Amino acid sequence: MVMFPGAGFVAEPDIGSPRILLATSNSHKLEEVRAVLEPMGFDVIGLDDVPGSHPEPVEDADTFEGNSRLKAIGYAQSTSMRCLADDSGLEVDALDGAPGVHSARYAGIGDDRPQRDDANNEKLLGALDVVPDARRTARFVCCMCLADPDGSIMAETRGTFEGLITREPRGDNGFGYDPLLFLPDVGCTSAELSPDEKNARSHRGSATRLMASELIRLGGDESSGA
Ligand code: IMP
Repeated sequence: MVMFPGAGFVAEPDIGSPRILLATSNSHKLEEVRAVLEPMGFDVIGLDDVPGSHPEPVEDADTFEGNSRLKAIGYAQSTSMRCLADDSGLEVDALDGAPGVHSARYAGIGDDRPQRDDANNEKLLGALDVVPDARRTARFVCCMCLADPDGSIMAETRGTFEGLITREPRGDNGFGYDPLLFLPDVGCTSAELSPDEKNARSHRGSATRLMASELIRLGGDESSGA
């Protein structure tokens, strides 16, 4: 289905569906973003689908917004494709917003993602050991940025996902800190939600739905010659 002709994305001439590069090799993020954008007619690919090697931009900004810009612009320039980037993480109020932009490597170990996630979760539970239940408020934050290969920013969105940090991991779905974010209204953690349930309320689901509106707007602008 071709919904956005002339949207300015790299399009397959023989297929016509607007193709968007999501600057990630995290298969979980890719699946979550695909679940929102593909039913709208977008073909979402990840970095592993782009031939060649693409240097990872240094993520040294101190905000999610800043890092999503660095990633979107860096990969848009290195791939010559319009590029969408997500920078995300967990903010814990009792830790003054930590791990924040350092969420991925909070425990400081390894390249193996599941091992890193386990170490991060263990460190977080230790850091909150003496914090009472009522003060364990936290949220996932996701900032998305869409950039053009010339380095210009086309759109930015943000989503949050509020909960409480549990005392032990629960659930096998999702990734990262999902087993630790307890959702009081449904009585389970983010890792106990199905992928669709998580996407319906998550930081990334919200940021992606807002980005979908931006993509449609950009397509409309361009096809109308604005
Ligand atoms: P990024 O790849 O630099 O954006 O780092 C994101 C890190 O934040 C991940 O490695 C996870 O530790 C954490 N994170 C972000 N989004 C989620 C989520 O949806 N569930 C669980 N953890 C997340």
